Amino acid sequence: MKRSGVPKLERWSGLAPYAAAPEDSLGRRHPETESATRTVFQRDRDRIVHSTAFRRLEYKTQVFVNHEGDLFRTRLTHSLEVAQIARSIARNLELNEDLVEAISLAHDLGHTPFGHAGQDALNRCMKAHGGFEHNLQSLRVVDQLEERYAAFDGLNLCFETREGVLKHCSLKNARLLGDVGERFLLRQQPSLEAQLANLADEIAYNNHDIDDGLRSGLLSLDQMMEIELFAHHASDVRQAYPKLGDRRLILETIRRMINFLIVDVIETSRARIKNAAPESLAAVRRSPPLIAFSTSVRAEADALKRFLRNNLYRHFQVQRMTTKAQRIVTDLFGAFAADPGLLPPDHQARVVKDQARAIADYIAGMTDRYAMREHRRLFAVDDL
Ligand code: MG
Repeated sequence: MKRSGVPKLERWSGLAPYAAAPEDSLGRRHPETESATRTVFQRDRDRIVHSTAFRRLEYKTQVFVNHEGDLFRTRLTHSLEVAQIARSIARNLELNEDLVEAISLAHDLGHTPFGHAGQDALNRCMKAHGGFEHNLQSLRVVDQLEERYAAFDGLNLCFETREGVLKHCSLKNARLLGDVGERFLLRQQPSLEAQLANLADEIAYNNHDIDDGLRSGLLSLDQMMEIELFAHHASDVRQAYPKLGDRRLILETIRRMINFLIVDVIETSRARIKNAAPESLAAVRRSPPLIAFSTSVRAEADALKRFLRNNLYRHFQVQRMTTKAQRIVTDLFGAFAADPGLLPPDHQARVVKDQARAIADYIAGMTDRYAMREHRRLFAVDDL
């Protein structure tokens, strides 16, 4: 691929040769005059923050539905935590903080209402029409669905930000996606910034889901002590502060866990980078994945993930929400598919091109409460 001819801005000191350099960006889908005051990646991050899809994240479920409590994570606060963790690590590895922040803030833009329950239901509805996958949808949001610029649809982000948003992808879809799909066909890696945003996502949700799980009472402290990663840090805290109340013990433990995981990623990745010695982003693409946990921490993180899946994500109270959410999404899809005339006018215009996809885009864009309201508007007989 060719370089885009992006104007050369001053490179911030401390950017390693294997980092993504803004002046070497592979460019935007629609050529634009670049900013004199911001690098292309800073500009991408700013476009994401100003997007409609980003604001909607505030009212989309991470694990707990938004109205269940004011203190639980939402997709928005989750994305901010991912960006914070990713930036910390990026600075230590001399990676591009702006790019890693842009990818982190955009990574969940395609999420449906009601978290994974919503996505699974929408995927089932879309089975005969190419399926639905939130990660692909995030790319669709930034490439096509945002409508705010006069000259083009979408946010017209740089290639490097877009490839970071597309974390994974089937070979079938990769063939349809052009430039950002190529690496899946070539079995190459994305930038280190993209690899890092992916791992920061995992660090963020593993830790904040423990916090939310304990806060909600669906998980207990005794239960958590079965998990090595948690127990180890909790015991340290208890020993140092024997009189500490449970709430602060939990928060202090989680803060130490996040730090422990960040330090492990920095040390492991630094050693891997040193070993592979990539001299450029092009060399990074050809190398094996270089941003990683150490083997032992990977095993501990996997054990924690399994624990959360079995005890929190499949908890009967979460399951009740899941079932209800799936019904709402399935009902909405069915109603719009039976009569696309029920769609708001701007979405009806898209129906001409691909009816099922237009419906999926509309539903995926909904916040939790908007979806519930729309369900009431369409199905509640006492609400004509
Ligand atoms: Mg995420």
